[in-house]
Amino acid sequence: MKRIAVVEDNPDNRLLVQLLLEPAYEVVEFESGSAALDGIPGANPDLVLLDISLPEMDGTEVLHRLRDDPATARLPVVALTAHAMAGDREKYLALGFNGYVAKPIVEEADLFAAIEQALANPPTPQDK
Ligand code: MN
Repeated sequence: MKRIAVVEDNPDNRLLVQLLLEPAYEVVEFESGSAALDGIPGANPDLVLLDISLPEMDGTEVLHRLRDDPATARLPVVALTAHAMAGDREKYLALGFNGYVAKPIVEEADLFAAIEQALANPPTPQDK
């Protein structure tokens, strides 16, 4: 079973994502960017589902730090964000995320599709 690290500061959203994912994936949870950066190398997930709006260190900063660490540089990272204006998908993909899921999650299938696509297309050395 693939393991997914969920980084999300909102406990209700964390629970929702856990309930959606757990039949299909093993889930490890982190409630802040710093906790994620500390814990992800040891948790050794196959993919990171990363909230953008996090206290202290936002998801984009977490992404860059994961990419800068050789131990986590090749991890697919999917943005999970309430920033769901027109053009936001392209914006986050251009920043180096490997997928994008808008909150609130209305279609469970969209979440699974983004995860499966990112697992199949992990970042390359050119992605920064
Ligand atoms: Mn948040």
